Amino acid sequence: AGSSDDCREILSHRLPSRIQSLLEIAGVVAEDLGFMVYMVGGIVRDLLLGVPNYDIDLVVEGEGLVFARALAQRLGGRARVHERFQTAVVVLPDGFKIDVATARTEYYEFPAALPVVHRSSIREDLYRRDFTINTMAICLNPGRFGELIDYFGGRKDLKEGLIRILYNLSFVEDPTRILRAIRFEQRYKFQIEAETLRLARDAIDRRLLGKLSHKRILHELILILEEKDPLPALRRMDEIGVWEYVMPEVRLDSETWIMLRRVPRVLGWLAERWLNIGLRSWVVYLLVILQKLPDSAVEEIVHRYRFDRDVTEILLMGREVPGLAVEIEEIQSLSMSDLNKKLRKLSGEHIAFLLLCLNRPESWERVARYLELKQDVRVKVNGYDLKALGLREGPVYQKILSDLYDANLDGLVKTYDEEIELVKKWISEGRVKDDG
Ligand code: ATP
Repeated sequence: AGSSDDCREILSHRLPSRIQSLLEIAGVVAEDLGFMVYMVGGIVRDLLLGVPNYDIDLVVEGEGLVFARALAQRLGGRARVHERFQTAVVVLPDGFKIDVATARTEYYEFPAALPVVHRSSIREDLYRRDFTINTMAICLNPGRFGELIDYFGGRKDLKEGLIRILYNLSFVEDPTRILRAIRFEQRYKFQIEAETLRLARDAIDRRLLGKLSHKRILHELILILEEKDPLPALRRMDEIGVWEYVMPEVRLDSETWIMLRRVPRVLGWLAERWLNIGLRSWVVYLLVILQKLPDSAVEEIVHRYRFDRDVTEILLMGREVPGLAVEIEEIQSLSMSDLNKKLRKLSGEHIAFLLLCLNRPESWERVARYLELKQDVRVKVNGYDLKALGLREGPVYQKILSDLYDANLDGLVKTYDEEIELVKKWISEGRVKDDG
């Protein structure tokens, strides 16, 4: 039987008041429709732990889609509905999102069949989840607002810091849970409970991870690499023997660990100075992880996991970054425009990887100066100005503008007038032809 407990205090202390009132409204909307609504999963776990988390997941006993539409209407937002999965996302005018699902249960009519999905009670919905700490719910209906639903001992495991599955076949049914167990264990500095760990090792020995699609493995790997510090989880994966199912080609050796350990610092450094560089930390980790492989193995991995075009390009082009780093360290005399020629095409992830490959502080400073300059530098002269100087429109315009950009980078010109003078000089030297 589930124990019940009052979380009203926690809701009012640990959630912004705006979210609290959203939850209250959700309860009223459900009540009016004759449904029960619960907040579930990660946000409940993190609320109890005191970890900020505003990803609201709601489960409805009744018709989730009807509820989602009513809630959207009540809040002036929209409901994006997925009929097939009986789920919806309510999007508020400011973009805030609330996930809604109908309480459901999945069972297998015969082995290897597709699961049959049925509408069900909250209890069954919680039972199909991965670990006890993720099975808690908080009721939102007015009469029971704030009541903690904890059928499977989640709160106790949370207090004791244990990751525990709900039933023995859990890892057999879904081996991605092994990766998820490691992720939660390392994120919260918990421990995988002894029997759960035994069942995980058992599933690994039986090579069940080999049955997963690459897509699902990649999804979980990305979740791990997006953790604030993914290293402990990677280490644990290596130690438990699941890494070889993820990327058997890659040996996580001590040199790779050293570089991996520096990633958070580099990302922090970049974020502090160039907020707009826009980079995905998981891609940076992958660049480091793949760095020692031969090109053919990287191509094979990229193919196997079907990364999207953008990431594929970054991973393949990333092969050239260590070489660039060597050049930058060896040729101290590179001008800013020389640097631009080498670094222009690099993504934010490549820049992070480049910094990781650079050993000397002076080299860091040079790249930093380049990034700073690049943010500020702008060519003041435009096509009309070039026309006024008597230059005929054509590809030469592009060339001149790009040379002016370089001249700006190298500090040869600063103002509009200086740029005009420089172009005139180029014309008089015959470097570019005017219309005459
Ligand atoms: P995070 O803080 O990483 O977002 P989360 O608990 O919200 O953690 P999600 O990956 O968003 O994690 O999953 C949402 C919920 O769905 C989880 O609380 C979990 O109970 C359930 N879930 C996700 N994947 C599985 C799975 N493979 N098997 C069982 N339950 C799962």
